[in-house]
Amino acid sequence: MARTDTRKPNVAGLRPRSKLVHGGTQRSGFDETSEAIFQTSGFVYASAEEAESAFLNDGQRHVYSRFRNPTCAMFEDRLAAYEGAEWAYATTSGMAAVTAALLSFLKAGDRIVAPFALFGSCLHIVKNICPRYGIVPVLIDGTDPAAWEEALSQPTAAVFLETPSNPGLEIVDIKAVCDLAHKAGAKVVVDNAFATPVAQRPLEFGADVVVYSATKHIDGQGRCLGGIILTDAKFGTEVIHPFVRHTGPTISPFNAWVLLKGLETLELRVNAQTQAATRVAEFLSTHPKVTQVLYPTLPSHPQHDLARRQMTSGGTMVAFRIKGGKDESFRFMNDLRMVLISNNLGDAKSLITHPDTTTHAKVAPEDKAKAGIRPDLIRLSVGLEDPQDIVEDLDRALRSA
Ligand SMILES: *Cc1c(COP(=O)(O)O)cnc(C)c1O
Repeated sequence: MARTDTRKPNVAGLRPRSKLVHGGTQRSGFDETSEAIFQTSGFVYASAEEAESAFLNDGQRHVYSRFRNPTCAMFEDRLAAYEGAEWAYATTSGMAAVTAALLSFLKAGDRIVAPFALFGSCLHIVKNICPRYGIVPVLIDGTDPAAWEEALSQPTAAVFLETPSNPGLEIVDIKAVCDLAHKAGAKVVVDNAFATPVAQRPLEFGADVVVYSATKHIDGQGRCLGGIILTDAKFGTEVIHPFVRHTGPTISPFNAWVLLKGLETLELRVNAQTQAATRVAEFLSTHPKVTQVLYPTLPSHPQHDLARRQMTSGGTMVAFRIKGGKDESFRFMNDLRMVLISNNLGDAKSLITHPDTTTHAKVAPEDKAKAGIRPDLIRLSVGLEDPQDIVEDLDRALRSA
């Protein structure tokens, strides 16, 4: 390969992992190795005419960090290069990305179809916030192809889904749903936080928009919140950008820089954590105190064939049920020595959660039941520790539960 411009490396011919290291880089006049943090709100012009022309040629140069900022742009362009997306916009949090992606195009009278099995805040947006603006939510069992067919048999504006879902790791057939959704006139927005872009590429199956909580694996070390919306150039510039530049869910340059540097190790971390998660899932499925293990590529997962079709690996998250209920779950979690109790995920540290009383505590009991969230369900985000230490910690705590 010919040497490319070091100020703006061309990564078009590089393999995905290399794109995570070099993609989106824009070096300043100082020729720094590591990407710079442009901690600035605005930009200056040599003349009033230059300012006028900057506003006329929208997007041709930086004018204000709510619109675009060089450090944020490096993060956006790097993940877009890896994901195979034409356009991206980084937000303050994953929820800001979900909200902006949906509200940028939905309007009163529109239908939105989504599975019940969603992260608590995502369900709140679809079920409680959308109706306040006249958007009609239709919630279904996302694992049932007939339910999708029925829900999408009439004109629909949006489909929103998580696969695997948080926390129950339910899988939605992205390609089948996209085919039905497009016939109904709907845009498909996929929250790919659990799978990560390492394990699943929704755009390749027909999704129109992919959103991430970058707080999770993209940071990967629990340091800051962030989110990102990825889509095609037309939808991004004509629909998403006008919405976000006026409503302002913009990420800060510093947080974008943390996430940009996180991308460099994303594939290595996710692959190591996935290997450990597979080992943990196999260990748990033989444990007498465990009644069910939910891990996408485990043969006992009800949709493992589908998971293997659309994911390149099972990811870093494992859900399982232990014998008993809330008391036994709490006793087990309290007896862990290394694995930490936290509702975050995707961290270098292994984190354990009781969804029923934390992330999904505010979800209505009937909706929890539909998503399989019962007091015996435990969610584990597998970290970067030695897998043997994770297994031993779980084993000891399970024995005493
Ligand atoms: C964490 C999470 C979110 C929200 O992301 P924040 O960065 O916490 O706002 C959305 N969807 C899923 C699937 C998540 O796990």
